[in-house]
Amino acid sequence: LVPNLPLNNKDGSSSTSSTTFNSYINLDQGDPVVFKEYWRKKSEECMVVIKGCELLSYLSDLRSVCWFMMPELRDAIKRLHALVGNADTNDMYIVVGNGSTQLFQAALYALSSSSSSDDPINVVAAAPYYSEYQEQTDILRSGIHKWGGDAMKYDKNEAYIEVVTSPNNPDGSIRGPVVNSKCGGEGKLVHDLAYYWPQYTPITHMASHDLMLFTFSKCTGHAGSRIGWAIVKDKEIAKKMTKFIQMSSIGVSKESQTRVAKIIEVLCDSYKNFKLGGLSKESELFFEHSRRLMMERWEKLREVTKQNSDFSVPKFPQAYCNFTNETSETYPAFAWLKCNKDEDCESYLEKKLKILVRGGNRFGSDPRYARLSLLGKDDDFGEFLKRISIDMNEFRH
Ligand code: PMP
Repeated sequence: LVPNLPLNNKDGSSSTSSTTFNSYINLDQGDPVVFKEYWRKKSEECMVVIKGCELLSYLSDLRSVCWFMMPELRDAIKRLHALVGNADTNDMYIVVGNGSTQLFQAALYALSSSSSSDDPINVVAAAPYYSEYQEQTDILRSGIHKWGGDAMKYDKNEAYIEVVTSPNNPDGSIRGPVVNSKCGGEGKLVHDLAYYWPQYTPITHMASHDLMLFTFSKCTGHAGSRIGWAIVKDKEIAKKMTKFIQMSSIGVSKESQTRVAKIIEVLCDSYKNFKLGGLSKESELFFEHSRRLMMERWEKLREVTKQNSDFSVPKFPQAYCNFTNETSETYPAFAWLKCNKDEDCESYLEKKLKILVRGGNRFGSDPRYARLSLLGKDDDFGEFLKRISIDMNEFRH
């Protein structure tokens, strides 16, 4: 912190504040490093050794629709969903992808190309929606799909795909489809359940939608492994998604698949050992540990915003979690911060407090809101709380 330097106001004039900051903190991206300390303790257990002669082939399992998915990864994913109870994998097809980012595009390809419409199908999501959907939909200016904007405002009598993100990125809300069925267009759904894990939200039901996307990035925090998976009811859609991944990357790294399968095995084994009577301690269980971290961050954030009416964050309803057997609220990976003293929350935080966040307009919403990540490093989160507390105190005097 460097005290007593002049700050530039939005209108270009300068004012003297008692405090300014000499470095930026970046809370824009949702890089999930918050869970790193937990995995540091599991470093040895999660280690995988891959010999020079192993994993040469493109192929993994020619009997499976997703022929490049390794059977050990498929089994690990099924085991994980059975443990958590968040998604039904029985009689469903699993397709692995390079993150759920690739699977989202594979899903658009599969659903658009099996639509009866000759025109590009409209892809919509209720605002505020995950900022990347729009660009991922339109990047290739495809002739089969195009971004259609806010699902709440969709009123065309044309085919559409609605993306339902629950809990939602950026605002943490629990969601279902919203497009008005009276519009008459043929509608398909993609459920992006990246955050439907116990550290972020109570597991209230076993999801069993036609096409669900999950990502290892947000489940355990191993975003760098780039593993996501889709759980798909219809075999033809699963085949088309597999074809898309074949066309764009001829499969998914087997080193990554092996590593992810191992980490899931370690995670699930610790629950088995816990149930077997104390072979694992409760604090060693991943979802218990990560849930506590998220809860603590939210409690601190709420404490700071309670003191200061200039910023506010949404409230979430309580629900019973079938996984923890407790009632709790949602602790989203992002805070959807409303800045009550400036029209542009992103630029206010950047200029005044040197905090980088993503503004509401990127999510099809109001610029008075901004999204900030709660998955970053402890130091950055602590510094963020300090800065908004200092800011509030200065305005009080
Ligand atoms: N969907 C949502 C809602 C996300 O927040 C993210 C990551 N920020 C993704 C998908 C993409 O995740 P991945 O790392 O698996 O590509």
